[in-house]
Amino acid sequence: MAGSVAMNPVVLVHGGASSEIPQDLEERLRQGVVRAATAGYKVLKEGGRALDAVEAAVTILEDDPEFNAGHGAVLNAEGTVEMDASIMDGRDLSSGAVCAARCIANPIQLARLVMEKTPHCLLTSHGAAKFACAMGVPVIPGEQLITERNRQDLEKEKQKTDAETPSPQKNQGTVGAVALDSNGDVAYATSTGGLMNKMVGRVGDSPCVGSGGYADSAMGAVSSTGHGESILKVNLARLILFHVQQGKAVGEAADTALGYMKSKVKGEGGVIVVSNAGDWAAKWTTESMPWAAAQDGKVHFGLHRDEARVFSLP
Ligand code: ASP
Repeated sequence: MAGSVAMNPVVLVHGGASSEIPQDLEERLRQGVVRAATAGYKVLKEGGRALDAVEAAVTILEDDPEFNAGHGAVLNAEGTVEMDASIMDGRDLSSGAVCAARCIANPIQLARLVMEKTPHCLLTSHGAAKFACAMGVPVIPGEQLITERNRQDLEKEKQKTDAETPSPQKNQGTVGAVALDSNGDVAYATSTGGLMNKMVGRVGDSPCVGSGGYADSAMGAVSSTGHGESILKVNLARLILFHVQQGKAVGEAADTALGYMKSKVKGEGGVIVVSNAGDWAAKWTTESMPWAAAQDGKVHFGLHRDEARVFSLP
């Protein structure tokens, strides 16, 4: 809590740091992040908590087949979908996560149930599935999450020779949200299908608190995207908030930590950050990252580096 003064709520979302977005996809990605930020903002304007706003925003992005999370998640080396997700409440640092989860539509909702209904922070594949059943979360055929585009992308990927193998920074589209509510509390949510053609059982940064995201109402909140192994090595989300704690502005904190990740482990990625004062930034070192931020009745959004558009909500 920030005290008795009502804060100006804000929600930010991202649709994954990426190095190659096909042109025909760009507009759909912009629309997707705008839709998610608008939905999260509505939750906040109606008095909802930051936690509810990030869950609502990420659920929309998981349901959108254009993003690498939930429906539309990329395929692993065996052609199946294994998803990672985490959520954190900055009020008391409670968090929940699932990893290598299969056959559910919305991993972020299951992550929230882990946070609220178990004494644990993270459940893995089989345990996550058992828990989903116990909570009455519908099990869906894994096929239902697979898009034709992802099937073709995996096929193309597998045909490549070693020399052609793309850097692991390619083909991303993880989703995430951060929010500050009128009570002054923050939260984050991150959800992903991980990296295309990953080994079965590979888990990235997205379900790991401190790397895939972090939220502490004493500082702010971050959701990360990019090369998971690099993000894990530098604890990207917590590192950014460390810089914020040390007095850096949110954009500078994000640039410093992303720059460190690039120079130290050659990792590329992107982040969205909100401080507990309502300052926010969307930053990335890859070519592009769809993002949107809703605050003061306006939605700001963009995808390429020099792009920042804005419109007023009705
Ligand atoms: N960070 C995710 C992972 O490595 C991928 C992404 O952000 O696109 O699993």
